[in-house]
Amino acid sequence: MLNDEVLSSIIGEQQLTELISEQEIKKRIVDIARDISDNYKGRIPIIIGVLNGSFLFLADIVRELDIEYEVDFIKISSYGNSTTTSGTVRLLKDISADITGRDIILIEDIVDTGLSLNFLKKRFEDASPNSLAFVTLLHKPHTSKIDFNIDHIGFEIGDEFVVGYGLDYKQKLRGLPSIYTLTKD
Ligand code: 5GP
Repeated sequence: MLNDEVLSSIIGEQQLTELISEQEIKKRIVDIARDISDNYKGRIPIIIGVLNGSFLFLADIVRELDIEYEVDFIKISSYGNSTTTSGTVRLLKDISADITGRDIILIEDIVDTGLSLNFLKKRFEDASPNSLAFVTLLHKPHTSKIDFNIDHIGFEIGDEFVVGYGLDYKQKLRGLPSIYTLTKD
């Protein structure tokens, strides 16, 4: 855990307020992992994490699964060092696996505008997988503009900037065990 001095050197005068506790996250992950294990029994899905934000969520999900699976990662550009979206998505690192004919489970940290997820859906569909499912830890329904179903949503949240449990503020704070809102007052 970060000490107060390190924390204030990162966030300055801003406030961190706990939104979703470590225990709530753990509990929800057990439920999601149980559903995935049930849905994919007898199959070997490739679980693809979207870097960087999903690394803890993916690690916790796979450790709860009781089926066989493979893991891969993809990296796309998101907000850079700003807290608002730039409106364009770029592929920074592609997956290594051949996903044609495979069952794909995409693990996102957060769906905000939905731009990233739309981009990723197209990237994966172009490779003709057998199936494609979407899991996100967090979803901002007020800002999200996607016209397809997200199979598993950890938590619906408001239109606020959140950090911790994989989510960053200027590339920092990803290791905080809970999810916090970061505000100016
Ligand atoms: P979208 O393309 O859906 O607008 O944004 C998705 C990406 O933006 C996420 O994968 C995440 O990296 C970043 N993002 C969106 N909202 C937040 C937020 O509240 N906090 C942080 N740390 N990143 C966010």
